[in-house]
Amino acid sequence: MSESDAAISIRDVVKRYAPTGSEDGDGKLALDGVSLDVPQGGIFGLLGPNGAGKSTLINIIAGMVVKTSGQVSVWGHDIDADMRNAKASIGIVPQEIVFDPFFTPFEVLENQGGMWGVAKAFRRSEELLKAVHLEDKRNAYARTLSGGMKRRLMVAKAMVHSPPILVLDEPTAGVDVELRRLLWELVCELNDSGVTVVLTTHYLEEAEQLCDRIAIINHGRLITNKPTRELVSMMSEKIVAFTLDRDIEQLPTHPAFTKTAKTGDRTIEITFDTEKVNTGEVLALVQGQGFGIEDVTTREADLEDVFVHLTSAKEAA
Ligand code: ADP
Ligand code: MG
Repeated sequence: MSESDAAISIRDVVKRYAPTGSEDGDGKLALDGVSLDVPQGGIFGLLGPNGAGKSTLINIIAGMVVKTSGQVSVWGHDIDADMRNAKASIGIVPQEIVFDPFFTPFEVLENQGGMWGVAKAFRRSEELLKAVHLEDKRNAYARTLSGGMKRRLMVAKAMVHSPPILVLDEPTAGVDVELRRLLWELVCELNDSGVTVVLTTHYLEEAEQLCDRIAIINHGRLITNKPTRELVSMMSEKIVAFTLDRDIEQLPTHPAFTKTAKTGDRTIEITFDTEKVNTGEVLALVQGQGFGIEDVTTREADLEDVFVHLTSAKEAA
C-alpha cells in the first residue's frame, strides 16, 4: 500500500517523556522508532502488554501528546503541517472516561458538536444516541449511567464530527462480558458503515476476533504488523503437554520442536511445527528418547503463543 492510501501513516515515531521529579536520566522512552500504516476501511488492532506504548502512540495520532520525533499523517494530513485537519479526521475514545456528571447524553453530544463547529441542522446527536443504543438515556444525567453506557456515550461523542477514523484506546478494559459484546457489535457496525477503526487492547482474544490486521508493540517497538489471518496461520504450531513416568533431567530435542519447556518435575510442553511432524511422531520421538508417557494433551497455538514467541525472540536478540 502506498503512503497516500493509508488512513494513518506513522514513520519513525519516537516519544521520550520528560523526566519527572528528581529522577535521573532523560525520562521514559515510550516509543522507540515506530513505523506503520493503518489501511483504510478495516479494524486495526494495536496490541501489546501494559506499558508497551499503545496509548502514547494513539495520543500522538490524536494530537493529545507531542511526539519527540518522526512523522505522522492522518487521512493524508501531516500532524505537524496541518494538525487541524488531522484532528478533524479522527474521533478518539480515550482510555480514561471523563464526563461532566451534570450533562445528559444528549447535551454531551450537542456540546461536542458545538465544539467542532457542527451547525445545529447537521448535528447527529439523536442518530448517534440510537447507534450506541442510548436513546432511552437521552435525558439522564451522565453520572447515573453505568460504566458500559458511559463507554458507549464516549463512542458517540467521538463520532459527532463524522470523522472517517475512530480510535478506541482499550475500549473493553474493565468492561464485563456482556458489555464487551455490545461494544464489539458497535465497533463492527461503525466499521460496516465505512469507518476505519483503530483499537488498542491487551486482550489477544479480542484482537483476534475483531481485527483484520494486528500490530504488536512491546517496549515501544513494533514487533509485527500483519493481517490477523496470517499472524495466526504463521503459527502452524501445536503445543503438546506430556506427563512422563519419571523426573526429567534432560529435555527431549528434535529439529521440528520450536520450543521445549519443563513445566513441573514430570511435565513438559513441546511446541512443534505441524508442517514438519505430527502429534503421533512427536510422541514416538519422546518415547524413542527413553521417556515413558503417562498423559498427553494438545492444543493449537493461539495469538497468545504468537505473542510470547515474538516478544521473547525479540528480547533474546
Ligand atoms: P500502554 O498504553 O501500552 O499501556 P503507555 O503508552 O500508557 O502504554 O505507556 C508507555 C510507557 O510510557 C510506560 O512506561 C509509561 O509508564 C510511560 N508513560 C506514559 N505516560 C507518561 C507520562 N505522561 N509521563 C511519563 N511517562 C509516561
Ligand atoms: Mg494504554
